[in-house]
Amino acid sequence: MDTADCIKFLGTAGARFVVLKQLRSSAGTFLSMNGQRIILDPGPGTLVRCASSRPKIEGKGIDAIILSHTHIDHSTDVNVMIELMAEGGFTKRGALFATVEALEGDDRVVLKYVRQFVERIEILKPDTEYRVGELRFRTHGRHHHTTETYGFTFSSQEGPVSFIVDTTFFPELCEWYAGSAVLVLNMVRMTPHPSDKVMHLCYDDARTLLSSIRPRLAIITHFGMTVIRAKPWEVARKLSDETGVEVVAASDGKTVKLAPREREHEQVKMFE
Ligand SMILES: [Zn+2]
Repeated sequence: MDTADCIKFLGTAGARFVVLKQLRSSAGTFLSMNGQRIILDPGPGTLVRCASSRPKIEGKGIDAIILSHTHIDHSTDVNVMIELMAEGGFTKRGALFATVEALEGDDRVVLKYVRQFVERIEILKPDTEYRVGELRFRTHGRHHHTTETYGFTFSSQEGPVSFIVDTTFFPELCEWYAGSAVLVLNMVRMTPHPSDKVMHLCYDDARTLLSSIRPRLAIITHFGMTVIRAKPWEVARKLSDETGVEVVAASDGKTVKLAPREREHEQVKMFE
């Protein structure tokens, strides 16, 4: 991996059946920004995809692991990825960022014995700024999801790069993520789910968010069956036509390069 900032989608599966049938990989997302390398949401298959990635993503090539929430498709590989980052547990290295739910809750997903392998564990809280080396990132408010969940904004060379991870739509999302130069959206469904227990963004929510936030580039990912059937690349084109925002659909293994830009005012707005 060269030193340019990039986002590599190791997996793009979102909902139960796409994950269980592995219609798309459910591995996490690899970020390389400001010289730091991060695995975001290591779902099932992340270790396998790191090993088969070209170039291979090795333990010493990961500086931090971030868990947005504890659901299976976001956290299953967290323990083995910690071991990878710490080179088998022989070297204490790297950072883990996770919710208190992931560490101390009923559904704690991080095994106690692997916690000693990381240099530091930081608990994700609302509206808080964090650092991995020279890379700053922040949370916003808590997302509306069935467990404690946070999205993120990273200060990349390109400007603020935000991930609106799992959530239902609520108007504050537009304010929290305003100023994002690049916006990654977990758009799981084409239409709203009939049950209010399924808390995910659908097509109309994505259109509302993009029309308001107007990033330079939007990337849709984390697809359920309805989006897969509608062909994600066609869905992205339609979203682009309807909003005037450049939208691309993530695919397994796709790398999006981030170019250095003069966007200091936006950085200041989101990081103070
Ligand atoms: Zn979830």
